[in-house]
Parts: sequence; C-alpha cells; structure tokens
Amino acid sequence: MSEKEALLENIEKNIKVCQKCRLCKYAKNAVPGEGNINTEIVFAGEAPGEVEDATGRPFVGRAGKLLESLLGEIGYKRTDVWIGNIIKHRPPENRDPFPDEIEACQPYLNMQLKIIAPKLIVTLGRFSMNHFYKDGKISRDHGHIFRSQGYNIFPVYHPAAALRNPEMAMALKKDFVKIPEVLDKVKNNKIDMYTEANNQNSKNLKPKGQLGLDL
Ligand code: URA
Repeated sequence: MSEKEALLENIEKNIKVCQKCRLCKYAKNAVPGEGNINTEIVFAGEAPGEVEDATGRPFVGRAGKLLESLLGEIGYKRTDVWIGNIIKHRPPENRDPFPDEIEACQPYLNMQLKIIAPKLIVTLGRFSMNHFYKDGKISRDHGHIFRSQGYNIFPVYHPAAALRNPEMAMALKKDFVKIPEVLDKVKNNKIDMYTEANNQNSKNLKPKGQLGLDL
C-alpha cells in the first residue's frame, strides 16, 4: 500500500467512527468519498442522500447517474476521478447541513484534498463552493475559475438541482464541457489572472466580467 493510500485509509477509518456532530445518530453509513486518489480532478458535493447513506458510496443515486453521464461526455469514467462530499453523514430527510455540522466535518475533506493534491476541484452546488469561497454565489460564480487555499476551484451547479430545473441543467452541461479546457489551463499556467476567493471581505472581490477568467 502506498503512503497516500494508507493516509487516506486512516482518514476513512476516522470518518466511519466520527461523532463530532449529531448527523451520525441518524445515518446508516458514513460516506467518506471514493475513486482514483492519483486523479488530477476531484468532484466535491454537498452531503450523502438516501442511496449514498444506504451504500456508503458518494453520488450513486439519481444525481450520481447524471454526474456519471456528464463525466462520460467529457471522456471520464467515475473511477478516473475522486468523488467526495463536504459532509460525510446524511442529514435527515436530506435537509441542508447546519453551520456547526459543516464546521465539524470540513477538516476531513481538507485532509483528503491535501493528500490527493488535485490540480482542479470541481465543486458541485453552493455548499461545496462556499467551503472554498464563503461569499461565493453559485448563480453568479458557476463556470468561473478561482483560487482558494492553494487550489484551483471550478464551481458548477449541483446535479440534483439540475434534475429539478432545466435551466440549471443546461448551465451545468455548459460548464461541464469546459472542464478539460480548464484543467489544461490550470496545468499549464495559461490563466492570466485568478480571482483569489477572499473569505474575509467580499467587497474586495472584483465584479464578474472584470475577472479575466471567463472561459
Ligand atoms: N448529493 C451530494 O451532494 N452528494 C452525494 O453523494 C449525493 C448526492
């Protein structure tokens, strides 16, 4: 086993016995995340849903099927990338995670990302985007690259939201097809200017259109 595998396995073990917030009381299984730990791209969602809770695997329900089909359109299988969530236990009835639950759980994803060290993190939905960019707004910021915590972040709409809303589905598809180009740009330093997600003072952020990032 490589050092990377061993470190990630150790984090998984901790996630599976985690009682840092109330969610473990309702969940059947923790969902640590899975996939290729040597990937260049990580997909980060919000929290497990019903099927994920039952299986202990991320994105295996309807939203997962959509994610897999979008991945297929850009030439990836789900096993080529790593897929995880901000929250590792399912919130009851799929409610939004509470701030204290997010705070308790986010060190796990932070540690996983540090070990995987992806070139690009595609955040799925607003909760995942807000993990990296507290003042980000998904309707404004999806489809634009920004830098946060030393990572290249590319926010897109959540596949579950796209299943409910055709406009979001179109936007998600449009953003997804940009991913190979975004990856190429971040790998080859072809981006002239990044927006550094400023989590302290959102007033410092330049308005959209002046970012130099629009692809
Ligand atoms: N939605 C998410 O955000 N994550 C999953 O794993 C499944 C659905």
